Amino acid sequence: MARTETSTHCPYCALQCGMNLRPVTDGTVVEVVERTDFPVNRGALCGKGRTAPAVLSSAVRLTVPLVRSAVSGELEPAGWDEALERIADGLRGTRAAHGADAVGVFGGGGLTNEKAYALGKFARVVLATSQIDYNGRFCMSSAAAAHQRAFGLDRGLPFPLEDIPRTGCVILVGSNLAETMPPALRYLTELRENGGKLIVIDPRRTRTAEQADLHLAPRPGTDLALALGMLHLVVADGRVDEEFVASRTNGWDEARAGVMAHWPELVERITGVPVPQVREAVEMFCGAETGMVLTARGPEQQSKGTDTVGAWINLCLATGRAGRPLSGYGCLTGQGNGQGGREHGQKADQLPGYRKLTDPAARRHVAGVWGVDPDALPGPGRSAYELLDALGSEVKALLVMGSNPVVSAPRAGHVEERLRSLDFLAVADVVLSETAALADVVLPVTQWAEESGTTTNLEGRVLLRQRAVTAPEGVRSDLEVLNGLAGLLGHGKGFPAEPREVFDELRRASAGGPADYAGITYERIVAEDGVFWPCPDEGHSGTPRLFLDGFATDDGRARFVPVTHRPAAEETDAEYPVVLTTGRVVSQYQSGAQTRRVAELNAAAPGPFVELHPRLAERIGVADGEAVAVTSRRGRAVAPARITVAIRQDTVFMPFHWAGGGRANTLTNPALDPISRMPEFKVCAVRVEPA
Ligand code: SF4
Repeated sequence: MARTETSTHCPYCALQCGMNLRPVTDGTVVEVVERTDFPVNRGALCGKGRTAPAVLSSAVRLTVPLVRSAVSGELEPAGWDEALERIADGLRGTRAAHGADAVGVFGGGGLTNEKAYALGKFARVVLATSQIDYNGRFCMSSAAAAHQRAFGLDRGLPFPLEDIPRTGCVILVGSNLAETMPPALRYLTELRENGGKLIVIDPRRTRTAEQADLHLAPRPGTDLALALGMLHLVVADGRVDEEFVASRTNGWDEARAGVMAHWPELVERITGVPVPQVREAVEMFCGAETGMVLTARGPEQQSKGTDTVGAWINLCLATGRAGRPLSGYGCLTGQGNGQGGREHGQKADQLPGYRKLTDPAARRHVAGVWGVDPDALPGPGRSAYELLDALGSEVKALLVMGSNPVVSAPRAGHVEERLRSLDFLAVADVVLSETAALADVVLPVTQWAEESGTTTNLEGRVLLRQRAVTAPEGVRSDLEVLNGLAGLLGHGKGFPAEPREVFDELRRASAGGPADYAGITYERIVAEDGVFWPCPDEGHSGTPRLFLDGFATDDGRARFVPVTHRPAAEETDAEYPVVLTTGRVVSQYQSGAQTRRVAELNAAAPGPFVELHPRLAERIGVADGEAVAVTSRRGRAVAPARITVAIRQDTVFMPFHWAGGGRANTLTNPALDPISRMPEFKVCAVRVEPA
């Protein structure tokens, strides 16, 4: 590597591909160079990663704070002092008039661990509010809740990606890796080259499903029933691993009773998957010595997401495919720091180290690190959608960091209305996102290559993004923003702007907790290509594989949880006869705030579309490319038709990266999972007609 290159990681998804950055001009612009020695992606990058530097020098990049003028009503350039004082006044004034919980904070799963930690501390110590949550709630919260419930600990993948090609069979549920994280597809390709089997479960025949030995296409929202149907056959065929169940689990008898009610024929009626295919999936999964079930947003973004994931975990437990080498359940987290973002305190119910906010010992420990009275720390607040829904009523002022809910939240039209109704809104972002455009104050902040900080990828591997370029003049880091605001709000100490200083405090705050980072240092991360948590001291080698010696429950045994199928919160009817499901495309990322500003990505994926089956297209009278109106009980979106046999006849698909008239989340249902508080992005009832 030339001395001028800097090793770092992609700013986008949870794979956190390694890359080198090489300056190509005066140190302000860089190009991406392959980094073949990094084990996760071995040099492979998708188009988003390759083009990520374009956002650094984008012409629409914010480089000066904006403050809404009382005279013109427009956002106008301002100095940093004025902007920060306006925010401090807005937050202070709201608290004085309406109480601490009238001030909310909304974070993001793309924030580094240091920022997520500092934001949580800022909310609870400086603002003394319980009202903090983040967009990661919309990402993997159901899998996290199911993981906690069954295993006593949530780490997306309890094993490294390198184990995948060596297992016998993978069931991939609701994940389109070929589009969401293309370099990870090679793990599945290698699995099949090694003789392993791949089963993909997805209502669409995606590019990932095309790689599978077996593709099952259930009706959206019915994968829980499919898992129960498979488990029914496992029991009926005598394939339960009785020794594993007896020695390493609890609760099988109760779970088994519910399973037996899900006859294969009933499961076929619910899911639309023919019984022989369900049987073939069981043969394939149980026919291998080892196996894994990997879920993503498909089963998780449902109003029964926790139970749906729980049903797949039950299948793993009953067949002895958990807590053993090359076997287990894992969640493919989506956002860049989707894993670390949920561990360090920006979640409504959690403190750093993945500790529970309601645990008195956790409160004492963290309060000790923060130098505050544990009794003064607020309790749990509202979950992400509930917080957004309360804007303008119970919550009057909001600080947003690293999120664009106007595009990414469910029932987005309503969320946009709620944001407009606030007394005060401040947003820190790199571009004028749709949410920032509504703000009273917008702060221009640094990006991935302009700052250092850690992220934790989907494997639980803690990584270091290193600063490669100097930020443009006029731009400050999120940590500097929190440092400045804390000072103005009477907390001059405790909010360092240096990432390393924040990380060292995070290590102390996480020590002894479930996600223990105490032994992880910036130097170790660089030297070891990342360190897997838990890592309790600097002599500890980290933990790539969890649960091999016991699960993280009190008695070391995994817990079966009885679950039963229930319909989606909103079923189709005569008025809304079609199911809408949403997702991503390869050339855009999440709300598109960054990727829509990259010419190459925009050319590849310029706008939304409605994917529908030729029979449905014929029935409603629409040709490929013609405008289609999709209407749900929450609103209407219009986009060109993309006709394909790769989708069920009763289902349409829309990607959710765009704002405006084609905004998919105008339509989605905010019905929440009762445990994880995950909205039901993946299933709602719609009417489809020519626009
Ligand atoms: Fe970046 Fe994810 Fe693409 Fe890798 S797969 S380059 S981390 S967006």
